[in-house]
Amino acid sequence: MVELLELIRKSRSVIVFTGAGISKDSGIQTFRDADGLWKDFDPNVYATYEGFMSDPVKVWKWYLYRYEKIKNAKPNKGHYFVATLERHIGDFTVITQNIDGLHKKAGSENIIELHGNIHRVKCCSCRNKFNTDDVNFDIMPPLCECGGLIRPDVVWFGESLPHRELNRAFNYASNAKLVIVIGTSCQVFPAGEIPFIVKRNGGAVVEINPEETPLTPYADICVNNISDEFYDELMNRLNAG
Ligand code: ZN
Repeated sequence: MVELLELIRKSRSVIVFTGAGISKDSGIQTFRDADGLWKDFDPNVYATYEGFMSDPVKVWKWYLYRYEKIKNAKPNKGHYFVATLERHIGDFTVITQNIDGLHKKAGSENIIELHGNIHRVKCCSCRNKFNTDDVNFDIMPPLCECGGLIRPDVVWFGESLPHRELNRAFNYASNAKLVIVIGTSCQVFPAGEIPFIVKRNGGAVVEINPEETPLTPYADICVNNISDEFYDELMNRLNAG
């Protein structure tokens, strides 16, 4: 704890890199865990463009079910810790692979979303984007004014990450003095490369994850005993100055 706080205090530019694990305590299912989404749902059907095109209604029903859960989910201490960090560090960015929007809900402002956001949709034809809440789902599958199919604005398997966001993320990673990695095993590339970029450029790596990951051998500090109390104490000490 002391070591971690010292590292945070002396690092002028910090990024936090998050994955599904940080939202688990908010009741949002992860993907790859033993009880994860991909155990019951085939990602080829629910998370590829081809799967969507072959049965958009089925895929949309699944996304609407998840959207309702995510909309009602509340940020947890992990998200609040990240938002607290931002208030204490001038040069701070959170880079997330999550699509749930919980960092924003917790008060984070400088957020790069690498895999899109379930609160947004886009038209497959004209590429216009809309709020999910503004879409009329009485008509299934939902259609854009241009007649095109509307899909969730999330990155599916086989699709590239949004270029602007990825470039910004890599830029921040090249210059960061510290990356705090929370709830991701860094196995999905290119996003998973981010902590390694920080390390290669001389920055420090902190890993907050209950399990060992391929990143663990490279981490300067590993925290695997994560609890609300842990985050509370971190936040209290940060706020105390
Ligand atoms: Zn359109």
